[in-house]
Amino acid sequence: SIRAPASKKTATLLVAVKCRPLTEAERCRNRNIIQVIDDKTVVVLDPDLSKDYLDRIQNRTKEKRYCFDHVFGHACTNSDVYKGVRSTIAGVIQGLNATVFAYGSTGSGKTYTMVGTQNDPGLMVLSLNTIFELIKNDTSSDNFEVSCSYLEVYNEVIYDLLEKSSGHLELREDPEHGIVVAGLRSIKVQSADRILELLNLGNSRRKTESTEANATSSRSHAVLEINVKRKQKNQHRNQILRGKLALVDLAGSERASETNSGGQKLRDGANINRSLLALANCINALGKHQKKGLAYVPYRNSKLTRILKDGLSGNSQTVMIATVSPADDQYHHTVNTLKYADRAK
Ligand code: ADP
Ligand code: MG
Repeated sequence: SIRAPASKKTATLLVAVKCRPLTEAERCRNRNIIQVIDDKTVVVLDPDLSKDYLDRIQNRTKEKRYCFDHVFGHACTNSDVYKGVRSTIAGVIQGLNATVFAYGSTGSGKTYTMVGTQNDPGLMVLSLNTIFELIKNDTSSDNFEVSCSYLEVYNEVIYDLLEKSSGHLELREDPEHGIVVAGLRSIKVQSADRILELLNLGNSRRKTESTEANATSSRSHAVLEINVKRKQKNQHRNQILRGKLALVDLAGSERASETNSGGQKLRDGANINRSLLALANCINALGKHQKKGLAYVPYRNSKLTRILKDGLSGNSQTVMIATVSPADDQYHHTVNTLKYADRAK
């Protein structure tokens, strides 16, 4: 099989921010909203600067201001977010790779954005929908095969989320397919119909640990990989193109020290940070690549970045969605997340 030509397009990186609405519980606790969104700019109000909300809004010069490719406000649905990233996904049926990931602290809306609900399906579901739509509307006589895998990286160990009780899985370098997870289950899919069910079942198997930040804080990175195999019919030789879309629900980005828990949980934190740090370095390299044409992406430093390698290098498209809570008690997390996203640009 042959990969898509690496020359056509250079890697691109899109950085978006999603500010979720206040939850019922936050409204009950009378939390204030600390972001003002103006087109592609998000302004974060420091809740300590002034006690009066209007004062703070009128005194914007003191506040932190960040600009991104897209900023999605409190009233935006997952479909709205998806419209901003959809163009990134079209190349997958042409043999190109793409990666979409949600980055943010626990409770900021990562899983909601990626998986979503029946009424507001998330990017994993909407992307798979698009892939089938594109295949349906494809005018060539090519054959398509779509398959999915769903894994988690927890403490630098890989587990299969499509298996009831998965053992540790290892990474292998395959001369034809590149870096592969040996023994990972891959299921053929014909439509996006049952994917939400499958994701929810997989998520129920994710390693969760009780922290002070959130009782069911997810300490693992979950990766849905959608593989599209295209058998070209109109060529002299039968060519096979393979496109890969990775959609990643990252573990909470809050620092281990901030979650105020010891032992096992601190180790989780350290490993999670290692993966996030490695990812940050890859994203930075991609950003530079985009601006100056530097090619090297240091993906080797963690399991997560090795898994994502194909979607973080070459001619791949990467989308980072930074998720933030609107609530004043999450101010430090919000600023940390926006700083991380800002550095990625
Ligand atoms: P994370 O995965 O980052 O820890 P969740 O996705 O679980 O966070 O979101 C935390 C809470 O906020 C959940 O109760 C979720 O339903 C709610 N939430 C997140 N994003 C939205 C949204 N866009 N609209 C409505 N509720 C949301
Ligand atoms: Mg989550």
